[in-house]
Amino acid sequence: MKLHKATAAAAAALVLSLTATACGGDSDEGGDGGDKITIGIKFDQPGLGLKTPDGSFAGFDVDVATYVAKELGYDAKDIVWKESPSAERENLISNGDVKFVVASYSITDERKQKVDFAGPYFLAHQDLLVRADDNSITKAEDLNSKKLCSVTGSTSAQNVKEKLAPKADLQAVGGYSECLTGLENKAVDALTTDNSILAGYAAQKEHQGKFKLAGLKLSDENYGIGLKKGDTELQSKINAALTKMESDGSWQKAVTANFGPANYKNEPAPKITEGS
Ligand code: GLU
Repeated sequence: MKLHKATAAAAAALVLSLTATACGGDSDEGGDGGDKITIGIKFDQPGLGLKTPDGSFAGFDVDVATYVAKELGYDAKDIVWKESPSAERENLISNGDVKFVVASYSITDERKQKVDFAGPYFLAHQDLLVRADDNSITKAEDLNSKKLCSVTGSTSAQNVKEKLAPKADLQAVGGYSECLTGLENKAVDALTTDNSILAGYAAQKEHQGKFKLAGLKLSDENYGIGLKKGDTELQSKINAALTKMESDGSWQKAVTANFGPANYKNEPAPKITEGS
């Protein structure tokens, strides 16, 4: 039996390489022609992209991604979810590790040097999350004498450093959920990112009554679906899927289902601006 193992592996490798050739050389997991599609999402953002303890995935970004995949010809069971931390999104796309990214991913000119976007499909605003009993932070400038947590590679961290509160003691971590323990035990005084994300954390059962949003609109964050630069065909297909999702009522349904529990007041669906 053991002797056959190597032969079997060689045969499997041959089959794989033949399959890759048959697919036109596009052998990446997220590529066309296969039965699976790999999509990048967040795993730790309740309401947007969350891996639940039973191993399933939930959130508005998950619903948008699932709808778009369906329009591209993939059933929900054919989706492989790939965790995409803020700082890694451009690389995951450029390397072909994912077909596209739906991960609270703001469209910016800087990012458009490396990737293209479809959308936008959602509009959020940068805000602050503070401890429920802390009334010392009501505007961005108050952060200049405070310890602030944000995430590497996010627009939120960049905005704080460049304009909102350049003197803030900024601790940048890998993912927003890492900031919450720090906020609770007073290692930091505030967490800054999109209000859509903060509302999800504040509403979590284990956080109830502990935190509050400042209620500021420190920026406009237009969420786009990130894809490989130059893939205009995929960009148009995703834009068409997003337009359909809005017009057939699925967008509103997904908003209500995912943000309703957090009592988050969302903006209306934004107009598609990319690729036209
Ligand atoms: N929307 C912002 C961004 O794309 C913050 C949220 C995030 O880091 O995913 O940078």
